[in-house]
Amino acid sequence: MRVVLIGPPGSGKGTQAVRLAKHYGAVHIAAGDLLRAELAAGTELGLRVQQYLSSGDLVPDDLVVALLWGRIVEAARDGGYVLDGFPRTAGQAEAAYRMALEAGVTAHAAVYLDGDSDALVARMLARAHVDGRVDDTAEVIAHRLAVFAEQTAPLVDYYERRGLLIRIDAMLPADEVTKAIIKALDATERPDATRE
Ligand code: AMP
Repeated sequence: MRVVLIGPPGSGKGTQAVRLAKHYGAVHIAAGDLLRAELAAGTELGLRVQQYLSSGDLVPDDLVVALLWGRIVEAARDGGYVLDGFPRTAGQAEAAYRMALEAGVTAHAAVYLDGDSDALVARMLARAHVDGRVDDTAEVIAHRLAVFAEQTAPLVDYYERRGLLIRIDAMLPADEVTKAIIKALDATERPDATRE
Protein backbone atom coordinates (compact mmCIF):
# COMPACT_ATOMS: atom_id res chain seq x y z
CA MET A 1 0.00 0.00 0.00
CA ARG A 2 1.28 3.43 -0.94
CA VAL A 3 -0.59 6.24 0.73
CA VAL A 4 -0.20 9.95 1.38
CA LEU A 5 -1.76 11.41 4.55
CA ILE A 6 -2.77 15.06 4.54
CA GLY A 7 -4.16 16.90 7.52
CA PRO A 8 -3.81 20.16 9.39
CA PRO A 9 -1.62 20.26 12.49
CA GLY A 10 -3.43 18.45 15.31
CA SER A 11 -5.58 16.29 13.03
CA GLY A 12 -4.06 13.07 14.37
CA LYS A 13 -2.06 12.40 11.21
CA GLY A 14 0.93 10.91 13.05
CA THR A 15 -1.18 8.53 15.12
CA GLN A 16 -3.10 7.33 12.08
CA ALA A 17 0.07 6.99 10.01
CA VAL A 18 1.63 4.63 12.56
CA ARG A 19 -1.51 2.48 12.67
CA LEU A 20 -1.89 2.32 8.89
CA ALA A 21 1.75 1.41 8.37
CA LYS A 22 1.38 -1.43 10.86
CA HIS A 23 -1.90 -2.63 9.36
CA TYR A 24 -0.58 -2.73 5.79
CA GLY A 25 3.00 -3.75 6.55
CA ALA A 26 4.22 -0.49 5.06
CA VAL A 27 6.91 1.95 6.16
CA HIS A 28 5.85 5.05 8.08
CA ILE A 29 7.75 8.07 6.79
CA ALA A 30 7.22 11.14 8.97
CA ALA A 31 8.74 14.26 7.44
CA GLY A 32 8.65 16.28 10.68
CA ASP A 33 10.25 13.46 12.72
CA LEU A 34 13.06 13.06 10.19
CA LEU A 35 13.70 16.82 10.17
CA ARG A 36 13.73 16.95 13.97
CA ALA A 37 16.17 14.02 14.02
CA GLU A 38 18.53 15.96 11.75
CA LEU A 39 18.26 18.91 14.10
CA ALA A 40 18.90 16.78 17.18
CA ALA A 41 21.93 15.14 15.55
CA GLY A 42 23.33 18.56 14.67
CA THR A 43 23.84 17.71 11.00
CA GLU A 44 24.39 20.39 8.36
CA LEU A 45 20.81 19.89 7.19
CA GLY A 46 19.67 20.11 10.82
CA LEU A 47 21.29 23.51 11.18
CA ARG A 48 19.73 24.72 7.93
CA VAL A 49 16.21 23.71 8.96
CA GLN A 50 16.34 24.87 12.58
CA GLN A 51 14.76 28.27 12.05
CA TYR A 52 11.86 26.84 9.99
CA LEU A 53 11.06 24.17 12.56
CA SER A 54 10.95 26.58 15.47
CA SER A 55 8.82 29.17 13.64
CA GLY A 56 6.41 26.66 12.10
CA ASP A 57 7.31 27.70 8.56
CA LEU A 58 7.91 25.09 5.90
CA VAL A 59 11.41 23.97 5.09
CA PRO A 60 12.32 24.68 1.43
CA ASP A 61 11.03 22.03 -0.99
CA ASP A 62 14.42 20.92 -2.31
CA LEU A 63 15.75 20.11 1.17
CA VAL A 64 12.70 18.05 2.10
CA VAL A 65 12.60 16.19 -1.20
CA ALA A 66 16.32 15.37 -0.94
CA LEU A 67 15.90 14.10 2.62
CA LEU A 68 12.88 11.91 1.85
CA TRP A 69 13.09 10.66 -1.70
CA GLY A 70 15.50 7.76 -1.22
CA ARG A 71 13.50 6.56 1.77
CA ILE A 72 10.25 6.67 -0.20
CA VAL A 73 11.59 4.56 -3.06
CA GLU A 74 13.12 2.09 -0.64
CA ALA A 75 9.85 1.84 1.31
CA ALA A 76 7.87 1.27 -1.89
CA ARG A 77 9.99 -1.81 -2.51
CA ASP A 78 9.62 -2.94 1.08
CA GLY A 79 5.84 -3.23 1.56
CA GLY A 80 4.83 0.30 0.64
CA TYR A 81 4.79 3.68 2.35
CA VAL A 82 2.60 5.83 4.52
CA LEU A 83 3.72 9.41 4.00
CA ASP A 84 3.03 11.60 7.02
CA GLY A 85 3.62 15.29 6.38
CA PHE A 86 4.89 15.00 2.82
CA PRO A 87 4.10 16.39 0.33
CA ARG A 88 3.11 19.66 1.96
CA THR A 89 3.26 22.07 -0.98
CA ALA A 90 2.20 21.91 -4.64
CA GLY A 91 5.89 22.03 -5.58
CA GLN A 92 6.68 18.98 -3.43
CA ALA A 93 3.64 17.10 -4.77
CA GLU A 94 4.58 17.77 -8.37
CA ALA A 95 8.25 16.87 -7.88
CA ALA A 96 7.28 13.69 -6.02
CA TYR A 97 4.77 12.70 -8.70
CA ARG A 98 7.28 13.16 -11.51
CA MET A 99 9.91 11.08 -9.71
CA ALA A 100 7.38 8.48 -8.56
CA LEU A 101 6.09 7.98 -12.10
CA GLU A 102 9.60 7.32 -13.25
CA ALA A 103 10.31 4.90 -10.39
CA GLY A 104 6.88 3.20 -10.64
CA VAL A 105 5.97 4.09 -7.05
CA THR A 106 3.07 6.58 -7.34
CA ALA A 107 0.55 6.73 -4.48
CA HIS A 108 -2.58 4.55 -4.52
CA ALA A 109 -4.53 7.03 -2.40
CA ALA A 110 -4.36 10.33 -0.55
CA VAL A 111 -6.20 10.46 2.77
CA TYR A 112 -7.32 13.89 3.95
CA LEU A 113 -8.01 14.20 7.68
CA ASP A 114 -10.51 17.03 7.74
CA GLY A 115 -10.91 18.90 11.05
CA ASP A 116 -12.29 22.09 12.56
CA SER A 117 -9.43 24.49 13.30
CA ASP A 118 -10.56 25.67 16.78
CA ALA A 119 -10.83 22.09 17.99
CA LEU A 120 -7.44 21.29 16.48
CA VAL A 121 -5.76 24.16 18.32
CA ALA A 122 -7.19 22.89 21.61
CA ARG A 123 -5.89 19.40 20.90
CA MET A 124 -2.42 20.66 20.06
CA LEU A 125 -2.09 22.82 23.15
CA ALA A 126 -3.00 19.77 25.25
CA ARG A 127 -0.41 17.67 23.42
CA ALA A 128 2.34 20.28 23.77
CA HIS A 129 2.43 19.75 27.52
CA VAL A 130 2.97 16.03 27.04
CA ASP A 131 5.50 16.09 24.19
CA GLY A 132 7.38 19.26 25.01
CA ARG A 133 7.55 20.19 21.33
CA VAL A 134 9.34 23.46 20.64
CA ASP A 135 6.81 24.38 17.95
CA ASP A 136 3.65 23.95 20.03
CA THR A 137 3.12 27.38 21.57
CA ALA A 138 -0.25 29.05 20.85
CA GLU A 139 1.38 31.56 18.52
CA VAL A 140 3.30 28.97 16.52
CA ILE A 141 0.24 26.71 16.33
CA ALA A 142 -1.84 29.53 14.85
CA HIS A 143 0.93 30.15 12.34
CA ARG A 144 1.21 26.45 11.41
CA LEU A 145 -2.55 26.33 10.77
CA ALA A 146 -2.27 29.38 8.52
CA VAL A 147 0.66 27.79 6.68
CA PHE A 148 -1.43 24.64 6.21
CA ALA A 149 -4.41 26.59 4.85
CA GLU A 150 -2.24 28.53 2.46
CA GLN A 151 0.31 25.98 1.23
CA THR A 152 -0.96 22.47 1.95
CA ALA A 153 -4.76 22.67 1.69
CA PRO A 154 -4.54 23.17 -2.11
CA LEU A 155 -3.18 19.61 -2.30
CA VAL A 156 -6.66 18.34 -1.41
CA ASP A 157 -7.93 19.58 -4.78
CA TYR A 158 -4.79 18.33 -6.48
CA TYR A 159 -5.34 14.74 -5.28
CA GLU A 160 -9.07 15.00 -5.96
CA ARG A 161 -8.32 15.86 -9.58
CA ARG A 162 -6.04 12.84 -9.76
CA GLY A 163 -8.90 10.68 -8.47
CA LEU A 164 -6.97 9.63 -5.36
CA LEU A 165 -8.69 11.57 -2.58
CA ILE A 166 -10.30 9.93 0.45
CA ARG A 167 -11.84 12.45 2.85
CA ILE A 168 -12.18 11.42 6.51
CA ASP A 169 -13.67 13.31 9.48
CA ALA A 170 -10.67 13.82 11.80
CA MET A 171 -12.85 14.86 14.74
CA LEU A 172 -14.17 11.31 15.26
CA PRO A 173 -12.48 9.23 17.99
CA ALA A 174 -9.09 7.96 16.79
CA ASP A 175 -10.20 4.31 16.55
CA GLU A 176 -13.14 5.25 14.34
CA VAL A 177 -10.89 7.35 12.14
CA THR A 178 -8.57 4.36 11.70
CA LYS A 179 -11.47 2.07 10.80
CA ALA A 180 -12.89 4.54 8.30
CA ILE A 181 -9.52 4.98 6.61
CA ILE A 182 -8.88 1.23 6.35
CA LYS A 183 -12.34 0.62 4.98
CA ALA A 184 -11.85 3.27 2.31
CA LEU A 185 -8.34 2.13 1.45
CA ASP A 186 -9.43 -1.50 1.15
CA ALA A 187 -12.02 -0.39 -1.39
CA THR A 188 -9.39 1.50 -3.38
CA GLU A 189 -8.20 0.02 -6.62
CA ARG A 190 -4.53 -0.88 -6.59
CA PRO A 191 -3.62 -2.19 -10.03
CA ASP A 192 -0.18 -3.39 -8.92
CA ALA A 193 -1.15 -4.60 -5.43
CA THR A 194 -0.21 -8.19 -6.14
CA ARG A 195 3.41 -7.14 -6.32
CA GLU A 196 3.42 -5.78 -2.76
P1 AMP B 1 5.17 17.94 11.61
O1 AMP B 1 5.86 17.12 12.63
O2 AMP B 1 4.71 17.15 10.43
O3 AMP B 1 4.07 18.78 12.17
O4 AMP B 1 6.25 18.97 11.03
C1 AMP B 1 6.95 19.86 11.89
C2 AMP B 1 7.66 20.93 11.08
O5 AMP B 1 8.60 20.32 10.18
C3 AMP B 1 6.78 21.78 10.19
O6 AMP B 1 6.20 22.84 10.89
C4 AMP B 1 7.79 22.26 9.14
O7 AMP B 1 8.62 23.27 9.67
C5 AMP B 1 8.65 21.04 8.96
N1 AMP B 1 8.13 20.15 7.89
C6 AMP B 1 7.60 18.90 8.05
N2 AMP B 1 7.26 18.36 6.88
C7 AMP B 1 7.58 19.28 5.92
C8 AMP B 1 7.46 19.32 4.52
N3 AMP B 1 6.94 18.30 3.81
N4 AMP B 1 7.89 20.42 3.88
C9 AMP B 1 8.43 21.45 4.54
N5 AMP B 1 8.55 21.49 5.87
C10 AMP B 1 8.13 20.42 6.57
